[in-house]
Amino acid sequence: MTGIPDKHLTLFRTIGEVAESINQQVFVVGGYVRDYYLNKLSSDITDIDFVSVGSGITLAQKVATKLKANRISVFKKFGTAQVKFNGLDLEFVGARKESYRKDSRKPAVENGTLEDDQLRRDLTINALSWCLNPGSFGVLHDPFGGISDLKSRIIRTPIDPGQTFDDDPLRMMRAIRFATQLDFNVEDKTMAAIKKMAHRLTIISKERIIDELNKIVLASRPSSGFSLLLESGLLGEFFPEMVNLLGVDEKKGQRHKDNFWHTLEVLDNIAETSDDLWLRWAAIMHDIAKPPTKRFSPDTGWTFHGHDALGAKWVPRIFRRLGLPMDERMKYVQKLVRLHLRPIALASEEVTDSAIRRLIYEAGDELEDLMALCRADITTKNEWKQTKFQKNFDRVEKNIKEVEEKDRIRNWKNPISGEQIMEVLNVKPGPVVGQVKERIKNAILDGIIPNDDDEAYRYLLKIKEEYT
Ligand code: ATP
Ligand code: MG
Repeated sequence: MTGIPDKHLTLFRTIGEVAESINQQVFVVGGYVRDYYLNKLSSDITDIDFVSVGSGITLAQKVATKLKANRISVFKKFGTAQVKFNGLDLEFVGARKESYRKDSRKPAVENGTLEDDQLRRDLTINALSWCLNPGSFGVLHDPFGGISDLKSRIIRTPIDPGQTFDDDPLRMMRAIRFATQLDFNVEDKTMAAIKKMAHRLTIISKERIIDELNKIVLASRPSSGFSLLLESGLLGEFFPEMVNLLGVDEKKGQRHKDNFWHTLEVLDNIAETSDDLWLRWAAIMHDIAKPPTKRFSPDTGWTFHGHDALGAKWVPRIFRRLGLPMDERMKYVQKLVRLHLRPIALASEEVTDSAIRRLIYEAGDELEDLMALCRADITTKNEWKQTKFQKNFDRVEKNIKEVEEKDRIRNWKNPISGEQIMEVLNVKPGPVVGQVKERIKNAILDGIIPNDDDEAYRYLLKIKEEYT
């Protein structure tokens, strides 16, 4: 156990002594032990899992008293308890045997031995544990060859995968999540069992699924996780729109690119520049509505007109179904999907300031993220084209900067209020007020008048007659 932070060692010894005093055996298990052997143990780790032979709740209560930790949560139904101590979540569970019912992942729990408990863990690499009792402090238990799987970078279940996944289908998602995070391979038998049982994911709640999916999205190369999800059939169980991106059509010798693999390339590209979950989700969704907008014409070849607007329209429905948040984060993704073609349209030499101003106005604070998404969207393998397209965006960004410095259009608010318009035109509230406001906005964005309060007021006086 060399290399473990002293504060954790002290804590482990204390927990071992408390367990000994009530005649229990206690073990650290799961992520902590796994990450230690992977040399990935970070000193700012927040949760540590313990399993005891005997009641995990009783042990947690004794430990909390000993540590003078007054925050403890007990989950009687699951036989677990959580102690908060010095920024750590210490999770205690009593070793158990479980038998699951077919229609639910809520287990019928029975007390068991350490061996029983390790049999029901999801993966061999997660079933490693260290004993903490004074007599055998630090002794490793590795009943399923977890250490050897760590060395050969293999994801495998402790017992027959069919049984492990049948007991709790969420484990199929976890297997792929860990393969992605750790860059491991899923063992053939394990993968075959996932393919066979993918349909059983339907009994799992969307909250649990999205937790695992988001960990895949946040991995350093998320594409490897999505390609496993596709191959195994799991992706189609909860995200059929994404599976529909797969495939290439050919007509008159013209082929379009495969939008599934393109989307994954865009996702990996954005993952290299940003850890933001929602920017990554924007990459996943940017072309989501390409299939229904696909057309072929002999003159222009394949087109996907309107996939940006339609995709934006789909975002709320997909977010709701997947259990993603329906708040400003959804709106953010929606906005990037809606605008993702706009910067490309600005890449030509003769672009006007007015077009740039409109983009700044519409993208607002999301402008930088939008540009990052557009750059990630360039997936051509032709180096000459890649350089050329990136240079085009350099120019767009330079233009944006210049226009911004001149016109302060970002987060722009109309300098003329509805009240002012009603006063000047001497009208009551009604559609005319909105029309006049829109005219003033367009005049400023189109550069007819400068972005300035006085100029806007003068303009209002000038167009007044047209409305009275
Ligand atoms: P991390 O916290 O880095 O995601 P972890 O391995 O600690 O990884 P947790 O979800 O905290 O993952 O679970 C702790 C341990 O509990 C796991 O290592 C595994 O042994 C076990 N476990 C968690 N979920 C399941 C499950 N659905 N089926 C079987 N065992 C599980
Ligand atoms: Mg954990």
